[in-house]
Amino acid sequence: MDKCECCNVNDSVGVASSTLGGFSLRYCAECNRKNAEPLGMICHIIQDFGDDVAEWVKDLTAFHNGEYIHWDEIKKIALNG
Ligand SMILES: [Zn+2]
Repeated sequence: MDKCECCNVNDSVGVASSTLGGFSLRYCAECNRKNAEPLGMICHIIQDFGDDVAEWVKDLTAFHNGEYIHWDEIKKIALNG
């Protein structure tokens, strides 16, 4: 079975359109539930736009080192390289 392209840990349950743009990724049930998107993609948004994003973007999570992290933590990673 294919891995989730968001956390790269769990098996995906299906392909869905990303909330961040016009493309599709494989997501697992947990990432789906946590409103997660790939860390690298959210980092790109932060590097390009900083906090100047829609509120729903700040509600996204990303999977990192075994846990789901939120906007403020993702921002630290994005801005510290
Ligand atoms: Zn996942």
